[in-house]
Amino acid sequence: MKIAVLTSGGDSAGMNAVVRAVVKVAILKGCEAWVVREGYEGLVRGNTEASSEQFIDDEPVNLPDNASTDGSSFNLIHNLRFGDGDLLKDGTGDHPGTRSLKGRYIVRVGFDDVRGWFAEGGTFIGTARSKTFRTPEGRLQAAYNMVKEGIDALVVCGGDGSLTGADVFRAEWPKLIESLQSEGRITMEKAQLHAHLRIVGLVGSIDNDMSMTDLTIGAPTALHRICEAIDNINSTASSHSRAFVLEVMGRHCGWLALLAGVSGGADFIFIPERPPTAESWEDQMCECIHRHREVGKRKTIVIVAEGAIDRNLNPIKADHVKDVLTERLGLDTRVTTLGHTQRGGRPCAYDRILPTLQGMEAVETLLEATPTSPSYMIGIRENKITRVPLMEAVEMTRAVSAAIEAKDFEKAMSYRDPEFKESFEGFLKISTLDQEKVPEEQRMRVAVMHMGAPAGGMNAATRAAVRYCIRHGHTPIAVHNGFRGLLDDEIHELSWLGVDSWTARGGSELGTNRTLPSVDLGAIASKFQEHQIQGLLMIGGFEAFNSLLILEEGRKHYPAFHIPMAHLPATISNNVPMTEWSLGSDTSLNALVDACDAIKQSASASRNRVFVVETQGGKCGYIATVGALATGASLVYTPEQGIDLDTLRRDVRFLKTRYTLDAKGRSEGRLVIKNEVASQVYTTDVMQKMLKEEGGTLFDARSASLGHTLQGGVPSPMDRARAVRLSLKCMAFLEREHAKLLQQSSKSRHATPDSAAIITIQSSSLKWVPVQEMVAHADMQNRRGRNPWWSGIKELAETLAGRPQLIGLH
Ligand code: ATP
Repeated sequence: MKIAVLTSGGDSAGMNAVVRAVVKVAILKGCEAWVVREGYEGLVRGNTEASSEQFIDDEPVNLPDNASTDGSSFNLIHNLRFGDGDLLKDGTGDHPGTRSLKGRYIVRVGFDDVRGWFAEGGTFIGTARSKTFRTPEGRLQAAYNMVKEGIDALVVCGGDGSLTGADVFRAEWPKLIESLQSEGRITMEKAQLHAHLRIVGLVGSIDNDMSMTDLTIGAPTALHRICEAIDNINSTASSHSRAFVLEVMGRHCGWLALLAGVSGGADFIFIPERPPTAESWEDQMCECIHRHREVGKRKTIVIVAEGAIDRNLNPIKADHVKDVLTERLGLDTRVTTLGHTQRGGRPCAYDRILPTLQGMEAVETLLEATPTSPSYMIGIRENKITRVPLMEAVEMTRAVSAAIEAKDFEKAMSYRDPEFKESFEGFLKISTLDQEKVPEEQRMRVAVMHMGAPAGGMNAATRAAVRYCIRHGHTPIAVHNGFRGLLDDEIHELSWLGVDSWTARGGSELGTNRTLPSVDLGAIASKFQEHQIQGLLMIGGFEAFNSLLILEEGRKHYPAFHIPMAHLPATISNNVPMTEWSLGSDTSLNALVDACDAIKQSASASRNRVFVVETQGGKCGYIATVGALATGASLVYTPEQGIDLDTLRRDVRFLKTRYTLDAKGRSEGRLVIKNEVASQVYTTDVMQKMLKEEGGTLFDARSASLGHTLQGGVPSPMDRARAVRLSLKCMAFLEREHAKLLQQSSKSRHATPDSAAIITIQSSSLKWVPVQEMVAHADMQNRRGRNPWWSGIKELAETLAGRPQLIGLH
């Protein structure tokens, strides 16, 4: 099959990663890969006759003499290069050594042409809004150009307009082919061969405005850009006690404004789906911000989505918000419009991982498509890549706009994914001083504790928990330095204002400690009693899970532990069993991506160089494995698989073949990612020396240990937003379980095993897992889960580097 990919509509970070993934996976699956430049416009323009024989690279790949090229190895080798690596990056063809692309919009590409593409934003193959493609004549010409090149499978990455265009094209295709044949433009054989169009959509949109998927490609990076801006503004706002009004993108969707509000700690937000409830939004906003100032806040952040409206559908504009704040509250207010800065910049880790996994799914969807199967859009729900009928998603997206126009805001919210609504409700809970106190007898003293190593999002989670407590009438108590601190009475009550700036802070404001409660269970129980702790939230990694287990088992002997206890996983190693994500893992992946981008640049700049990058992670290979996918590493070593001589021998062979096959005159940097304890014998130092020795004249080798830099400085927006959402769920859980306990007589309260649980993300849903149930899924000795979801990612990352195909060729 010949598979073509195009990017259309507004550009977004991650589109290059889509093209890279589709091209690589298509070739690995035995297909030819093509790209269409300039979106649908490129399909309509096609290739001029004069240029069409220029597809195939004139520099043949040098195969090793003993190479047996069958199956996917054959396809990979023969599809290695059709440009010189910069063929499409440059676009104009003016680049020295680059053959002209003039007159060529549908271009065959090789495996190596898309190397390293996902480290840069935008789309190298260009995007456009094509008027001609909207016309039947334009689409007829597009069909002709595709058939001419023998292509009838198309991956479209764009917004709802682009995906609608794709669906229209597919529905019309049989008629278009019939017309082309009857006009004598194509032969009957060609018409029969290309009777059906296979099409699949990927959503590239920075607004996250598509229904039936949690995230669109480019939205996480845009959120990064906004949060960076808010973090920068926060310090100046606080210094001058100023108010800032930030206008962010989102004409029909408030996701960016909402998530920026949650993860940036804003005071007030305006989004199209849910205008302020009061008739006068000015009054509502001023009252909210006035109260914040009254309790002592020195800064005010208001976020306005581009398409924000009031209940009567009148637009709400940043300048007007500024005037209201200045005139009514006397605040020194400034407006910052982020504009196109939100589109640009390097894609964050998630915008490399998501398009890679979705690009792979897109190719598989095309390979499985039949003439009668619907056109699919590839989405994601929590951590599961999904296929949903494309037009259903587009129609639901349009229904949101229709609901807004009809002032049915409830309906508009219900058409967004469940996370959107939860995030909005969560934002209100943590950003306002409104009260929803539970009855006096149900109020609790809730202890919050950080366990293990610091992880991004711990502080944001604590802030959300504290504010939930205060809103509901509970008392939030900080336990500093874990169980060791509890024994030393390092305890104090937290306030609404005291945690205000914690959202963006890395590390752990409470201090972490690895001491388990088993150090002196009786003394811990007596501290629980002394401080009247009625609910416990532990935020941390494997230690927190282990501690919860010890406390639950301790209930047999100590009544003080008959209270609800929740564990919110937070660890960069992501080694808590059964949960697919922990707080901190996204921050850590971003730190890894940043470091590896710099390393790779240096590795390519000097000469052919392999960098062995050592990561943290203890005996869990998560960071190394998913990090390898996010950085495009060629090899990964994990503690789960270990390292042996046979593997090393094969890996050296692969690297030698790989460097032999590289285009002449280009220096290439490659990454090998290795977990710190993947092997006791083959340490990072040994591996680097071995690779240097074996590389000979082909490649050099260096190493870099990332160590604690992987804990990241500032937590990523995804970790902050997730922290808020999960923390609020933990608090609701403690409240629920506490209410259940209150139904028993106060003398003999027995908490059920279910009331000591861990909140987990499993595939497409959030699940509470009682700690006792989790034991069966834990490898206690190696401090990690059994059967992690990412175990197949090592193979995928190495496959995308061509390792399995090239290994036997040298
Ligand atoms: P963004 O979210 O960035 O606006 P989009 O994909 O929604 O992206 P549009 O301008 O709506 O952007 O669509 C991109 C292109 O898709 C259009 O220029 C047009 O070529 C094609 N297209 C959109 N709608 C249709 C349609 N109904 N029929 C045919 N082609 C369409």
